[in-house]
Amino acid sequence: MNENKIKKQLMQVTISVILVSIIVCVAVFIIFGYVVNAVNESDRSQMKIETQEYKNRIFKQLDEDFQILTTLSKSYEISRIMDDEETLMTSIIETNKANAFISLSYFSVNGTGVVDTRDYGVEYDVKLEDYHPYAQEVIKKALQGENAVSKMFDSEVHHQKVFVYAVPVYQDDEIVGVLSAGDTLEIFEDIVNGDTVMGGQGYIHLLDSEGDFLVRSDNTIVQENVESIFDGPYLNNDMQQTALEALQNQNSIYGTFNYKGEQCRFYIEPLELNGWSLFCANRLWGPTLSMGQIVIFTGGFLFLILILMFFLLYYGYYKFRKNSALLLHVVYVDDVTKAMTTLRFDQRLQEIQKKHEDYCIAAVNVHNFKWINNLFGINGGNKVLQYIKDIIEKNLNEEEFFCRDSADLFYIFLLETDKQILENRLMKIITTISDTTAHAEYSYEISLYSGLSICGTREQALLALRSIQNSHRTSVAFYDSKIHNKFRQISLVESQMQSALQKNEFKLFLQPKTDLTNDRIVGAEALVRWQLSDGTFRYPNEFIPLFEQNGFCHKLDMYMVEQVCKQLRSWIDEGLTPIPISINQSKLLFANANYPDELIKITNKYDIPPSLITLEMLEGIATNDTQQINSQIEALHAKGFKISMDDFGSGYSSLNMLYCLKIDELKLDRGFMREVSDKDDNRRRRIVLKEIITFAKKLNISTVAEGIETQQDKEYVAALHCDYGQGYFYAKPMSAYDFSQKYMYTDHSEVMQDEV
Ligand code: C2E
Ligand code: MG
Ligand code: MG
Repeated sequence: MNENKIKKQLMQVTISVILVSIIVCVAVFIIFGYVVNAVNESDRSQMKIETQEYKNRIFKQLDEDFQILTTLSKSYEISRIMDDEETLMTSIIETNKANAFISLSYFSVNGTGVVDTRDYGVEYDVKLEDYHPYAQEVIKKALQGENAVSKMFDSEVHHQKVFVYAVPVYQDDEIVGVLSAGDTLEIFEDIVNGDTVMGGQGYIHLLDSEGDFLVRSDNTIVQENVESIFDGPYLNNDMQQTALEALQNQNSIYGTFNYKGEQCRFYIEPLELNGWSLFCANRLWGPTLSMGQIVIFTGGFLFLILILMFFLLYYGYYKFRKNSALLLHVVYVDDVTKAMTTLRFDQRLQEIQKKHEDYCIAAVNVHNFKWINNLFGINGGNKVLQYIKDIIEKNLNEEEFFCRDSADLFYIFLLETDKQILENRLMKIITTISDTTAHAEYSYEISLYSGLSICGTREQALLALRSIQNSHRTSVAFYDSKIHNKFRQISLVESQMQSALQKNEFKLFLQPKTDLTNDRIVGAEALVRWQLSDGTFRYPNEFIPLFEQNGFCHKLDMYMVEQVCKQLRSWIDEGLTPIPISINQSKLLFANANYPDELIKITNKYDIPPSLITLEMLEGIATNDTQQINSQIEALHAKGFKISMDDFGSGYSSLNMLYCLKIDELKLDRGFMREVSDKDDNRRRRIVLKEIITFAKKLNISTVAEGIETQQDKEYVAALHCDYGQGYFYAKPMSAYDFSQKYMYTDHSEVMQDEV
């Protein structure tokens, strides 16, 4: 996990959130706009449809009125009623009664006529010139053969606006007169006052070409008593001009006006009659309230979705940020010490390397940290690690940093390349930490060591550290070509070990073990040699310690046991008397519960009595759990194997160990053989060696002196009553073949010669 990566992801999420929000907003507005538009469109077309419907109804009304007049005219033509003035008059009066006209008249072509006016009675010999000019006009038109309707005019008789219809009356295909009916606009009022306009929310007025109301609906938005749509608060200047042009040119137009803050829409539909027009108006959301509601609901719904999306996106973003921060904390901060992790360290290293070319990386580790854990428990161990972290932190300069890797391994980045200064700084940290007075809680001296790599890598610092991990004398080591080659060799060995085992490159070498009292051969020690394909040898010290560490020793030791069994089998099969062979065994095996069974499997395979095999364990093993080792020894004894303790006296030996462990043989380290110039030292060593041999004898443990190189060595240990000897004085380790040739075909009880 990388902080920059997380930041980048956060940025991407942020941008995504913004983009999605913008897209949703735009989508909402587009949809909203679309819905509003659709509603507007539908509202407008609805207005048009309804206005035209009213127009049709008006024309239907006019047609019906004309129809009455035309029918009357036809009946007059047929009945020749005009010839009888009396009958004509009676007909006029009766017809007028039966219809809703305010007046009905007949004018003959000479310009005189009969007029029956409702509520006022009948008049004779009425002169056409006395009529209102508008009425004269339509009557004259009718005399020309045209059905006509007059414009509105103020009637002096009725004191209201009236208009006149006129149709010609024929006799023998000639116009002999005109039937004319007068009416008020009341006939339209039913129509324009209908409360069904635009779902009951709109209204329709009848206008003349000047915009004056001919019929004004009671059901009106504009409450003021105005005469014309151009009066009062109806239309703004621009709209007035447009509306006037439309009225005069008999065009249909849509428009809007604002009344008391309420947005309203109007539509003008020309009636194509006397320059009249229908003016339909409604509130923007009024007549199509359901559509308006749809718009509001849709908008509201989309808005809610938008809010919800915003919330979800923000919540996701917030969670992501929080989790990222948590993740970064987990990945970047060591839980135990709160120091940074190696991951963070490496990132910081990369960043700072761009700025500083001169630096040093130090790896710091605690000797035997597992002992601290064993002694003080995990919590105690953690406290020690926290203490180490505090001290390192206090000893850093600006821009320097550090981290804790696993367990007790720390890495420090230092802006310093001078070896002496670096060593001093590291020693200061190491000595401060090891100062027991500083952490009186634990009276344990924390011993640290450090590997440094100048301008190098963490891995190099670690190699330098490993190069001194077993040395308590050196606390600070710098990575150099020697260390480099050493570890290169290690990795080479590690890379070859598996295939070497498969290719049988590990060879069995044997070194004889001799009875010191008579120099007769009593056994041999199996020692491994790694023969490379070019014929050269690798010796155990070049790979055994590494195999002990990486666990491969288990496989190798079992392989050597098998080689030994094979050799014993071949001797037996050849009719030779086999001699017991000691085999070096890794300490790991003594902790493995399956170990005795694994051994038995091999001895059984070659049908070798386990008593011919002595298992050599290293003295160091005894520092482990003695009880557990003893039970392993017992198990091995039970199978028939013998146990020998190797290199006794090379490390921190204790006589107590001899008492505790039920071993059969003690191999005295060849260090006892080395003479030193200090005579007193030699004397003291001799006393110790003598006591060990005596003590072992008393415990029924046989003793073998290793490293007998000279006659003098041999006599020295023989005098101390050591049982057996092994060393170059008798023979160097040799291949199993050479060993067989040299010793097995002769009587082993033969006295050994000095082979060196
Ligand atoms: P070790 O078991 O103590 O074996 C004796 C070592 O001393 C052998 O070294 C041998 O060559 C050497 N030696 C014998 N006599 C003399 C002498 O007179 N003077 C001197 N200077 N050296 C003498 P080698 O073969 O190099 O083995 C070294 C160690 O490697 C062995 O010490 C043993 O601990 C380990 N080793 C050898 N083979 C095996 C093996 O198959 N498995 C395991 N686990 N360890 C092995
Ligand atoms: Mg040995
Ligand atoms: Mg040894």
